[in-house]
Order: sequence, then C-alpha cells, then structure tokens
Amino acid sequence: MNFERDLLKKIAPYKAGEQPQDKNYIKLNTNENPYPPTSNITKLLNGFDIDSLKLYPDPNNMKLKKAIAEEKNVSIDNIFVGNGSDEVLAFIFGTFFESNSTPILFNDITYSFYKVYANLWQLNVKLSMLNDDFTVNMNDFVNANDVSGIFICNPNAPTGIALTKCEVEEIVKTNSDKVVVVDEAYADFSTESVEELINTYENLIVVKTLSKSYSLAGIRCGYALAHKGLINSLNKIKNCFNSYTIDRLCEMVSIEAVKDTKYHKECVERVIKTRERISKKLTEMGFNVLKSSSNFIFCSSDKMYAKDLYEKLKDNGVLVRYFAMDRIDNYLRVTIGTDDEMDKMLDILNKILD
Ligand SMILES: *Cc1c(COP(=O)(O)O)cnc(C)c1O
Repeated sequence: MNFERDLLKKIAPYKAGEQPQDKNYIKLNTNENPYPPTSNITKLLNGFDIDSLKLYPDPNNMKLKKAIAEEKNVSIDNIFVGNGSDEVLAFIFGTFFESNSTPILFNDITYSFYKVYANLWQLNVKLSMLNDDFTVNMNDFVNANDVSGIFICNPNAPTGIALTKCEVEEIVKTNSDKVVVVDEAYADFSTESVEELINTYENLIVVKTLSKSYSLAGIRCGYALAHKGLINSLNKIKNCFNSYTIDRLCEMVSIEAVKDTKYHKECVERVIKTRERISKKLTEMGFNVLKSSSNFIFCSSDKMYAKDLYEKLKDNGVLVRYFAMDRIDNYLRVTIGTDDEMDKMLDILNKILD
C-alpha cells in the first residue's frame, strides 16, 4: 500500500550529492568549504551551557539576527533566518506565489531544488534557456511577461557564471510588481552581491547561506535579506510550520561565524586563489573551463566523456559531481578544495587522461 497523497507520488525529490561513509575521498562534490569554521566556535563550545538545552530556543533568533544585521549593515526587520537556505527557499516558494496559476520564472540549468519546491507547492514554471555559452538570456528576465515571480541563482549553479550587479538590478527594477529572489549561496566568492539593494527595492529577496563561504554546511543556517513587508510574510509561513527552526547550538555557532569577518575573508580569498590557479591548469590540460565566480569549477574535456571521468576519478578516491541532465551531461562540477587536494586531483586526472 502506498499511503502517500497523489501530489507526493508524482514528485521527484531533490537528490543531494553523495556523502559517502565508506572511505576517505578527496571530496569535491558538494561545494563544501575545505577550511574549518572559525576557531572561535571551539571556545564557544567548550564553554557552552549544556543546561540551556532544556529550554526552547528564541523563536525570533534575535541574537543571530543582530549579528547578521551588524555584519550586513541592515535592520533586524530585514532578516529572516532558517534551517539552511534550502528551508528559506522552500518558505519563499510557498509564501509569494499562487498554485496552478501564472508561472514563476527561472533558468533551465540552475539549482535543481527550485523545480522540486515548485512541484511541492504546485507552482507552474516557465524556464528560460541559458545561452549556448551558459550565460543568462537577459531578454527573458528584463520586463518578464506572464510570470508571477523570478528566481535567479547568482552566481549560477552548477555553471559558476555570475550576472553583474547592474544586470540583476535591471531585472529587479523592471519587475517591480513581482517578487524577485536572488539566491546568493556563492556570492561571497564573486564581486557581485545585490544585498544592499534590499533598501531600494521592495520586491527583492536576497538569500544567503553559512554552508559554503562560512564552512558551516553541518550546522544548517541560512537567511534572507529583504524589505520588512516580505520578511513579515516569511515569518507568517514559518510559524505555520515550526516556530523553532534554529536550535540553540545552531544560533550560537552561527553568530561566531558571522562575527569573525576577518577569518571569513581569509578563507574566501584562499578559495578564490586556488580556483584561479586550477582553472588555468585545467585549461592548459585541454579542458573547457567556464569562468567561475563561485567555489567550484564547471568543466568538460573532449578527451573523455564526463560520466567516464567521474567514475574513474571516483575509483581513484576523488569525488566530483556529475549531472546526468540534458545540455550538461558532458560536464563535471569540481568543488575547490585545499591546494593539496586540488594538486592530487590534477595528478590523478592526468593519469586517467594519459
Ligand atoms: C548549497 C546551496 C543552497 C543551500 O544551502 P543550505 O544553506 O546548505 O541549505 C542554496 N542554493 C544554492 C544555489 C546552493 O548551492
């Protein structure tokens, strides 16, 4: 007997990247940060008041919001926090768009969770096809017709390509009657955040995460920055699900990470430096490497099919991400690891291709 409701029977859930428990891979498949989170967390946890766990956390997470507000120079009323930015996105999909009605718009090649959320909330979707070079087709997004909302992942995943701040602003400005969501999971690795535009545009939501640039994928913390009207709506839907999405540990750990701006910047700069070095090396090895503004590289080789490369790399202890999807099934997405990990990966690649 399948007791699921019909909607769920039809849904193909998101497939997270492998988190193998069997052996130690050089793990370059889920865009985690290779560097540890700030050591201030060690101090925090050593002095953590375990007794406090008997109490529910603050449902409004004011301490965390205060830390984010200070770091981002916005008001507390402009912040919504969630259990990972995936949860924040899920709430956004459920808050602002009507089921079985005018479609929402996003790219055909982008973060694949968008489609899952759209299906879950029964939203119609209009896809904009990326150009052949995987750049965004701006014509579809500027003054977008017959859509009720827009999602842009910037820099895009899994391509790593970024729109400029001006381009995103044009999209936000010319769609002032619709909510425009900019998923900036990787923006810390680029130069093009539109965070500050939330003070200008009432229809803009910028979604951020601590999972990538702050090395905290394991703590599950993400947030949205937006005009307070949009934030109020998100609080409404959150309180229809779960008032305590952020637990005490998550809140305290996240605060330490957000506050240590110096360490954050150092890690980001190291990742960018390695990304540029490895992009160049892969290009020299004959790979087609897209210009990345994120913490991963999207590339293909005409010497071997991406799927075979993925499997051979895995046999040799290197895990990268392969998507068996139209248009990108000859590409690999390789997360930027430490310099040492990346050099090992290149050695193994060279051996495979020889
Ligand atoms: C990783 C990622 C997220 C989710 O991040 P969490 O905060 O870990 O849930 C959201 N959007 C994109 C594009 C991502 O790559």
